[in-house]
Amino acid sequence: MPITPSDHERVLESIARLTEKRDRESLELCLIQTMFELLPVEDIALYRVEDTQFGLLVRVNPEGCWSAADAGDDPEYLMPIVNDALFAECLHQRQMRVESASPRIGRYAFPILHQGRGVGVLCVESTRDLSDDRRLISGFLRIYQNYLALIDENAHDKLTGLLNRKTFDDRFIGILLSSRHTGSAKEQLRRLERRRDNSGILSHWLAVLDIDHFKRINDTFGHLYGDEVLLLLANLMRRSFRRSDLLFRYGGEEFVVILKSVELSNARNVLDRFRQVVELYNFPQVGQVTISIGFTEIRDLEVPTMIIERADRALYYVKENGRNQIRSYEQLVVGGALTAPQSQQLGGDTEMF
Ligand code: GH3
Ligand code: MG
Ligand code: MG
Repeated sequence: MPITPSDHERVLESIARLTEKRDRESLELCLIQTMFELLPVEDIALYRVEDTQFGLLVRVNPEGCWSAADAGDDPEYLMPIVNDALFAECLHQRQMRVESASPRIGRYAFPILHQGRGVGVLCVESTRDLSDDRRLISGFLRIYQNYLALIDENAHDKLTGLLNRKTFDDRFIGILLSSRHTGSAKEQLRRLERRRDNSGILSHWLAVLDIDHFKRINDTFGHLYGDEVLLLLANLMRRSFRRSDLLFRYGGEEFVVILKSVELSNARNVLDRFRQVVELYNFPQVGQVTISIGFTEIRDLEVPTMIIERADRALYYVKENGRNQIRSYEQLVVGGALTAPQSQQLGGDTEMF
């Protein structure tokens, strides 16, 4: 049944409710609930798309509402897009596609695009013909896409395009909790097995990277060249680290990298390789720039400030001992170069990732 003039107030009311939302999860939940209330549908679900996979974010049907953000311990499974022919077609053609889920029910898939890329799919099941409602659905999706763009813009640093400090503060715990569930069942099993025999344990690591003598660069070449060094360094970071690693501009000339699920030796190698990449890079006009890196293991259920503090202490050690090196906090403690405060004792009861 098409939306009637008497529904206009409800639609306006819904849009007002939607635009009150300030974070992505509540926006997505509100969007799907609103569409479920307004449209003659049996089931409505929003999926996110990552490269060649997709995962359920929010679903509403007469049985209730499910949201990945509220699911707690329920892992958000990612499936290959090729498993769903309708989704694959909708994302490939960048337009709404429909198929019959059963003789009575139509299944509609709408692509969600961001900067020309398919980043999601809205899937609607209905026993009615939705031809008259398609403009309304598309309108809601446009609001959603505009909003996603805004949220994305606010999450990134303007100069370098890396994630910003606010995102680090807002999302750190959520990012880590969600990443505990990622990976295939096989990977998770492998992780458990490694933990059991206590070798090659995969952990998450946080590294603080700081440019050496950056003040000198500003003083010698000017602020604009300083800015360019920051931008080029960010580009080198994007090229050197994996897509799944999180890269932040944490402060003026300080960066944070979170490496997920790697062994200590791997984390060290990856970070040291990056240090060398920077050392060997010829920055226009400025020439050679070096960085110092302090890193630490992220333990389960810690507050971010404690983790940053450990990495910072390792970084400070490097700054005091020649710069252009990397050091892990834990190894500095084991080697006696640093002492751990009571609250940061190693090997305590805290469960490791
Ligand atoms: P160290 O090796 O000990 O880290 O020395 P440093 O000179 O890099 O450290 P310090 O913290 O004394 O200086 C950081 C400088 O970074 C000071 C500040 O003017 C500059 N800075 C901070 N943000 C920006 C920015 O956005 N652009 C530019 N060009 N400079 C910035
Ligand atoms: Mg510095
Ligand atoms: Mg600094």
